[in-house]
Order: sequence, then C-alpha cells, then structure tokens
Amino acid sequence: MFAIVDIETTGGNPTAAGITEICVVVTDGKKVLQVFESLIQPGYPIPRGIVSLTGISEAMLKDAPVFAGIAAELHHLLHDKIFVAHNVNFDFGFIQSAFAKLDMDFHPAKLCTVKLSRKAFPGKRSYSLGEICSSVGISIQNRHRAGGDAFATSELFNLCYEKLGSAQVIKMAHATKRKVVLPPALTEEDISRLPDSPGVYFFKNQQGKILYTGKANNIQKRVRQHFDVKRGKTALQLEKIDRIDFETCGNELVSLLTEAVAIHEHWPEWNVSGKHVGNKYAIYQYPTQSGMLRLQTEKHRKGNTSGIPFPRFKDAKQTLGKLIVQHKICPVLARAEGLCHTPGCYCGSENPERTTLHNQRVEEAVHQFQHQKNQMLITGPGRVINEKSLILVENGAVVGWGFSLGMKENTAIDSIIKHKPDIPETRAIISGFFRQHQPGDSGMYQIKNMHNH
Ligand SMILES: [Zn+2]
Repeated sequence: MFAIVDIETTGGNPTAAGITEICVVVTDGKKVLQVFESLIQPGYPIPRGIVSLTGISEAMLKDAPVFAGIAAELHHLLHDKIFVAHNVNFDFGFIQSAFAKLDMDFHPAKLCTVKLSRKAFPGKRSYSLGEICSSVGISIQNRHRAGGDAFATSELFNLCYEKLGSAQVIKMAHATKRKVVLPPALTEEDISRLPDSPGVYFFKNQQGKILYTGKANNIQKRVRQHFDVKRGKTALQLEKIDRIDFETCGNELVSLLTEAVAIHEHWPEWNVSGKHVGNKYAIYQYPTQSGMLRLQTEKHRKGNTSGIPFPRFKDAKQTLGKLIVQHKICPVLARAEGLCHTPGCYCGSENPERTTLHNQRVEEAVHQFQHQKNQMLITGPGRVINEKSLILVENGAVVGWGFSLGMKENTAIDSIIKHKPDIPETRAIISGFFRQHQPGDSGMYQIKNMHNH
C-alpha cells in the first residue's frame, strides 16, 4: 500500500520551519482508498511570500490542531505504507522530524515520484509537479495546497505504477529503506536484550578484546544506530564483532566517566584519536635568581610531578588567581609582572622580610592545595528506581563512583565508592560539569560539599 503525501510549510528547513497543511492519499497503485487532510498550526510565523504562494494565512490556522494533535492518527496511517511524494525527501524530512520531536520512530520505505516519472516518462523537459502533470494530461486543482498537489501526485503515481509494474516500483521503494545489518555473530535477540537506559556499551572481538566503546542515553537505541545502514554500507568491520557487553550507569555523567576510563584502560582500536585529553597545563613554583618564588601557569611538562596539573589553561589560571587571593600572596612578586596595588602589601622594597614572607606564603599555598581535601559528592539518578549514583570528587579529580539504594544520612561514602584512576579525561568531564552545575542547583544532579579543610 502507498501513502501519497504532500505538505505545505513555512520554509524549507525542518529545524527552522513548520508544517501548515498535510494531505495523505492512500492508494494501491490503481485507485484511491483513503484520504486524510488537515491544516496544522506550524509553531512558526508564515512568511508573506508563502502566504501568497499557498493562500494559507495565520488567520486560517487559528482553530487548526498542532502536529502533536494529529500525530497518533497520522503515524497509524503512514507507518506500514510506502511513503510517496514528489521530491520525497522534503516531505519525508519534515514529517520524520515532527515525529522525532514527539519521540516517535518513523522509518517507512519511501518513493519519489520525480524519480518514478523520469523512469516511466523519460525525456521530458521538466519533472516539476506542474510540468510533468500537464505533459501526461493530469490537471491540478488547487496547485500549492496539500490536497490539490497530493491528488495530482497520486494520479501521477498510479500512471507510473501502471507503466512500470508493481515489481519494479516495490523494488525501488525497498532500495531506499534503511536497514539493519547485524554483525554475522549476532542475532536480533542479542540486540533486543540490550537495556534501553543510560550507560556504556562495548563491542568485543572473539578474544574478548574491546574494539569500541561508546556512551549512550539509551544503549539499545544507540547500538542499533551503528547497524542501521543505508544500502548495506557501514564504517564498522562487522565480522570482527563477536559480542556486545554493556554497563548501565543511571545517568549521562556516570556514562561519560565510565566511557573515559574504559578508553583510557583499553585503548579500543576503533575509538580513534582525538579522545585523549591530557593534562596540558600546570601551576609550577620555581625560584628566581634572587631566591623569590614565582608561581606560573605553563604547559605541563611530562614526568614533572612538582606542578599542579589541569586539563585546560582556563582552569589552571583561575586556580592560581584563587590561591594568590586566599593566601594573600603579592600578585606582582608571584608573577613578576605589573605594579602592586594591594594596600599594605609586604612587597615594598624597604621590607627586609619580604622574600621570606613571600616564599612562606607561596609554599603554604601550594602545599595546602596539594594536601587539602576539597571533597564534593555528586548524586544523580541510579540504574533502577530508588537507586542513586554517587560520584566523589577531590580537588577536581574524580576519586570514583558507585551506586546506592535508599542511602541513609550516615552511610559511609567510602563503602559505596569504587575507586577509579585519576586521569585527565575524567578531570575534564568534571570541570565541564562544574561549569554548568553549582551546589544548591535543583535538577537531575545534586552537589554536596563534603568537607573543606
Ligand atoms: Zn605586593
């Protein structure tokens, strides 16, 4: 069965325009079986040029439903039919994206009547809907309204169907359908067993080595996307995949951390470069010739453990600024630049104690930062109802994470947290998280200051 579809829209791009009218004509290739037609409130203003092209004005739509109001009926009508339109990718793109906004999957086979009529009626000057219809003797009532164009397209389709025969038409439709190509070692059952919750999945080879790992908000859906390929082409070497393992994580943040640690530990060959973050900057302390200690943010020198490492320059610079203020260090002596404007600062040249005082404060700042315990606990949704995820962060480093069911006030955090390696990638994820979330925020995650000393 074929659904001939025509829509009118407020523009050309489904991310910036809406549907104002739809008409669906269902045909078996010979006769019209059913018609669905509706005006739709597009959710976007209608440009004047489009109003004069289609005749559809905002006033006409004031009692029309929004797309969500007809989505269920439309989906029921379309999902099991071959989707046909003149320049099908335009109409299909809008409708698929409107369904996607409502979390409704829509993947029918589709057919384009431009392509079909090129094949059935070769050698025409133009295959625009108006031209091809008039050249094969179809008259269009209400051109540029969904109903008029859909009925004309359905007549054109039925002519093509008659000329080309059903076998060829159906073959052309199925060539466009995206299909799932599974690794030969796996079955549909293996895929449908995967959870549809947030976490990390692993493609493994026969030896159990991880070939690829990825994070997803819906593991099963994301894995299916890897195997959902057009015309059998895929970037993955499917024959190498022997099994798919997974780890549910409860939320996106734990998924990101789990993925980062897995990549760091296993270096999967398909997780190509670019993922590696690295501590690129550090705060270093070093004496000048006069014996005065300087504090400087610089490129991290591999193998040098004396500095305080950071994945990003901004984080290193911000921390240095905070240390200087907190420990009342003279910013000029520390950085050897500019003039000191701090009232009563120790930096005046007549102060004989200035080097001792300065160096003491710098050493104290660095020591305290390296040995302080600034612990934060981030809680988020767990893997099952009533479970919580807990991530322990200390001085910007991820200590580890774990899960707890019905946690009490006095539960020992240490018994829940599984320790993880301190790697630049997880530091970068957490510093990104803290740029968007603060203690006291409401939402999916809660941040608690554990202790500060
Ligand atoms: Zn000063």
